[in-house]
Amino acid sequence: MDPVEKAREILRAYPLCDFCLGRLFASMGYGIENAERGYAIKTLLHMRLVYDYRNGVDVSEDLKALARVHAPTRRFLAANGIKVEEAPCYVCRGLLKDVEKYAEGVVKALQPIDFNTFQVGSVIPKDVLEREREVMAKFGIQTGESIKHEINRRIGRLVGEALKKPVNKERPDVVATVNLADGSVKVSRNPLLLIGRYLKLSRVVSQGRLVPGAARVVEELLDPIRARFGGRSLVFHAAGREDVDVRMLGNGRPMVIEIKEPDKYKGDLSGLAVDGVIVSRLSYGTRNDVRELKAKAKTSIKLYRALALSDRPLSGDDLAKLKALEGAVVVQRTPRRIKRLNPRAKRRRMVYNVEARLVSERVLELFIRCQGGLYVKEFINGDGGRTQPSIAETLGTSLEVVELDVLDVE
Ligand SMILES: [Zn+2]
Repeated sequence: MDPVEKAREILRAYPLCDFCLGRLFASMGYGIENAERGYAIKTLLHMRLVYDYRNGVDVSEDLKALARVHAPTRRFLAANGIKVEEAPCYVCRGLLKDVEKYAEGVVKALQPIDFNTFQVGSVIPKDVLEREREVMAKFGIQTGESIKHEINRRIGRLVGEALKKPVNKERPDVVATVNLADGSVKVSRNPLLLIGRYLKLSRVVSQGRLVPGAARVVEELLDPIRARFGGRSLVFHAAGREDVDVRMLGNGRPMVIEIKEPDKYKGDLSGLAVDGVIVSRLSYGTRNDVRELKAKAKTSIKLYRALALSDRPLSGDDLAKLKALEGAVVVQRTPRRIKRLNPRAKRRRMVYNVEARLVSERVLELFIRCQGGLYVKEFINGDGGRTQPSIAETLGTSLEVVELDVLDVE
């Protein structure tokens, strides 16, 4: 495709400014702004037409069409006694000439936020977009760039220079959207994500909601971390869950702290210890980390320690029977205590190891290594037959779980 001949056809139909003409050929060339490209094409077309004109070819209509949007051609025709008025650009009506003036508004809107990367978006009047589509469709343009793209890029470049920060199209911290109809700027702040691990040494702090028996919830204990970044609110995501009365020990459980609408995207990443909750190893994360965290929670291996009380005295021979549970697939109907799930739903999880020792005749300490998602209390007490096999059933006794801890999340 010869862009100069194509431009000759297009300009016959529509007066276009340098930006809007150049943009139709955006994918031709590299590192050239659309306006330079548009002006270069017009200059080449001018040369071709003036040459033909001087050699007696009748190109006066093409010259007049070009003169509407090209000053040298207007001057050439004027010198030959033909007067042509300058015409506004059919697509943008002059909008693209001073897009840069919006950059200042964006800089002002972003200044109060301490961010790393940004992106500029824009709301462009519908009629401009429609006229752009019309021109592209009419001439089957395959090499064009959208007007939105050009505007965002040009404003983004200036804002980046002013604030000395890079544009990030995939995962910007903040997005400033300029409305070109009225020049207003809207800023949206993406959540700040912190990954790390937590321990819970308390049996009265709930990992999730404020349930019976819980004095506090983890989310509210982490508020000082939210405050470090000036966020509006905080959401706590953990890789799996433990009940309020279950401690989370060892290396802790992986988690992501999501801070909504922060004022700062950089800050203090030191740990936190408050009311039996310890957060450590904080670092900056992404949405992908949250997805991975949730996915891994279903498959990762957990090690539990439990203290259980037996109805009848137990012996070493009884404990030997527990070997049979190693490698077992445990089938569990949803425990009655869990109301949010269908009570008839069945869950299948692997148990890898069961170690037991008698603390006294009727007090049993258990170490259970199993697949994430196993209802461990029910695996121990059998849940009235709803979990099978179970430790209580294998021992032929009824068991009450008095203490449960997660020792490791592998
Ligand atoms: Zn234009």
